[in-house]
Amino acid sequence: MAVAPVVRFAPSPTGLLHVGNIRAALFNWLFARRQGGSFILRLDDTDRARSRPEFEEAIERDLKWLGLDWDRKERQSDRLARYDAARDRLVASGRLYPCYETPEELEFKRKRLLSQGRPPVYDRAALKLDEAARRQLEGEGRRPHWRFKLAAEEVRWDDLVRGPQHVDEASQSDPVLVRADGSYLYSFTSVVDDIDLAITHVIRGEDHVTNSGAQIQMFRALDAPAPVLAHLPLLVDAAGGGLSKRTGALSMGELRERGVEPLAIMALLARLGTADPVEPVTSLQPLIDAIDFARVGRAAARFSEEELAHLSARTLHAMPYDLMRARLPTGVTEALWLAVRGNLASLDDVKTWIAVVQGPIAPEIEDADFLAEAATSLPAEPWDEMTWKTWTAGLGRKGRALFHPLRLALTGRDKGPEMARLLPLIGRDKAAARLRGEAA
Ligand code: GLU
Repeated sequence: MAVAPVVRFAPSPTGLLHVGNIRAALFNWLFARRQGGSFILRLDDTDRARSRPEFEEAIERDLKWLGLDWDRKERQSDRLARYDAARDRLVASGRLYPCYETPEELEFKRKRLLSQGRPPVYDRAALKLDEAARRQLEGEGRRPHWRFKLAAEEVRWDDLVRGPQHVDEASQSDPVLVRADGSYLYSFTSVVDDIDLAITHVIRGEDHVTNSGAQIQMFRALDAPAPVLAHLPLLVDAAGGGLSKRTGALSMGELRERGVEPLAIMALLARLGTADPVEPVTSLQPLIDAIDFARVGRAAARFSEEELAHLSARTLHAMPYDLMRARLPTGVTEALWLAVRGNLASLDDVKTWIAVVQGPIAPEIEDADFLAEAATSLPAEPWDEMTWKTWTAGLGRKGRALFHPLRLALTGRDKGPEMARLLPLIGRDKAAARLRGEAA
């Protein structure tokens, strides 16, 4: 039997979630739910200076708002002893070595190589230092940072999105895994966590592709199999620019404030960059059922705020009453919801239509005589959706000349939901008063 997948979404609590990282969260979550696996929320908070509890809270609040629940939560700051142990193993096996160059020295080396037309790859000078030389440097007060010794090989993997990949590690600098202050770099802690938490699939943004070759070597150096990798193409804005620069504008908090429906965000992000049409959904289930990495294209996916706003409105238009009930102001009946949902750009607009139905509103009178006449021919209650048709058929006018003054008087606006549905909700007393020009 195949093992149930274990995936993780690993944001750093150094900022707010934006559509780019939410897309990674969504694909991980959909994949876990589709395969009966588990979804771990891992907070990459080893950068103590920039990590903040309020960002951690915001991340959790945003994920909950979007309906992405997690089966387990881990914090990297709780796992430092595990990183220390893995570090010691790599040092013992000769794969992690101390380096003493200052940033200025490294920059100098880099510039020299570039001026010679050579790739700026770290020259491994520190590997040639003997014990005495190292002791002398430390005696001068230098503290080492530690690099992972890459094996000179072509690392290959079959990416679920990008297909067969290869990175020539012989042309890469040995990555620094431990800083001079002893803190760890993300690429290393992530591998240790992925091993400990038995992560089967790493689903993340394309910006991490270049890390993957070195990380696969780290898995092997720690005697663990590398997970399956899936790198999602980056999102770009309409002009083709990166989204990350605009994170503020596109944070989940900002979208929530604007009244964007969370299911619209999910439906758009699940389909962007695939050949499948973007359609509104009323639950996450259809997105779970449809997840397929093979359908994600390799080109950057274009994210448009207009498309999201439009999809958000269409999401509301499709929402059944039962799924909305808890979010509606009290007093919104099913009939009212069904009458007005098709006219909402955001849920907040429902208030406008509650006010129109419940009144009092100031009617707009276009043709007082006609309206007063129409008021006298209003049928007796009970009213239903046929009432509008029967009533207006007897008013002796057609088309705009008939409907426009009625709508203006009855709702105070020239556009809105179908009058056949609104009229029974407004009721006879208020309808009659409004037709006579009275606020009701
Ligand atoms: N903390 C990393 C990030 O936010 C996680 C990348 C990964 O999924 O490996 O980019």
